[in-house]
Amino acid sequence: MYNITLIPGDGIGPEVVSAAKKIVEATGLNVNWDIVNAGADVYKKTGVLVPDEVYESIEKNKIALKGPITTPIGSGFRSINVMLRKKYNLFSNIRPVKTIPGTDSPFKNIDLIIFRENTEGLYSGIEKKHSENVAEATKIVTSAASLNIINEAFAYARKNNKKKVTVVHKANIMKLTDGLFLDCAREVSKNYPEILLDEVIVDNMCMQLVMNPSQFEVIVTTNLYGDILSDLCAGLVGGLGLVPGANIGENMAIFEAVHGSAPDIAGKNVANPTAIILSAAMMLNYLGEKEKSNLIIDAVIEVIGEGKFLTKDLGGIAHTADITNAIIGKIQTLKNL
Ligand code: NAD
Repeated sequence: MYNITLIPGDGIGPEVVSAAKKIVEATGLNVNWDIVNAGADVYKKTGVLVPDEVYESIEKNKIALKGPITTPIGSGFRSINVMLRKKYNLFSNIRPVKTIPGTDSPFKNIDLIIFRENTEGLYSGIEKKHSENVAEATKIVTSAASLNIINEAFAYARKNNKKKVTVVHKANIMKLTDGLFLDCAREVSKNYPEILLDEVIVDNMCMQLVMNPSQFEVIVTTNLYGDILSDLCAGLVGGLGLVPGANIGENMAIFEAVHGSAPDIAGKNVANPTAIILSAAMMLNYLGEKEKSNLIIDAVIEVIGEGKFLTKDLGGIAHTADITNAIIGKIQTLKNL
């Protein structure tokens, strides 16, 4: 029996998280879900953004599946997502981006994975307003956090027989901060002589990704660039509805989709639950339940490939519940083979 914290989140969060919960249950995994919530909706109801029970649950279970949480733009409270990643030192943000046959994208053979530093950089949350017209943000880069994420990326590359790790930086301009990140990448790469270290400046990287994305296998980068490149890469394979993610630390992990709370489509039963369902598959893999994880991935690929139950973002008319039920049906079929 696994004890897993389940955080529905804001906007489309409750719709897609409930879909992922049903899918995990359909695999036959024995789970005790500890359902707690945080975010803008909780704040409206209780005046508290993150109730203590959320921290207690994560700290007890050490594993969570989380929906997106709204962060107000410009003013208001700071990101709960960023806070949780820092608080629990979930230094690896891992985002696999893969073409699923049947999705409408000009690119067909994308199979890359982004390793984004998750605890510092420009997301350190150190900002100052000097006067009405002058504001400042501090970018922190440490070798400890940089080595953590770069080591993860290279270890993944070796384990999965990848030939190249691309480090994305802007060390030509940010010589000290991005320079340190790049130095760490060069240092780590010495332990992996069979893997090519490919150094690409972030602006060129954006163009390369749009022109020829299948040249990339493993990408490692700092917090802000990783965030931006993740959405760019999601666009290459059919959108944010498809790309899962994991935030992993030493002995704790929070799994969540790349996408946000999508207020424009919230409550309409049209959100694509695939991204959080694939995040749940990553979670099962992390728990050592590889067979059940693959069962989910195979079912998702088959349902999307058949094209009968595609949500609006994929060019279809299916509702969240329709594609969820189709994936559950496919899991049952695959289990009985
Ligand atoms: P978003 O990812 O919520 O939405 C961007 C676009 O993608 C929208 O058009 C949306 O409808 C579409 N989209 C996203 N997920 C989809 C899905 N599953 N199915 C179909 N379409 C989908 O980004 P945003 O609008 O910039 O941000 C909205 C809020 O989410 C903000 O408050 C932001 O801070 C927050 N956010 C949270 C997280 C997180 O919790 N990890 C991540 C990103 C953004």
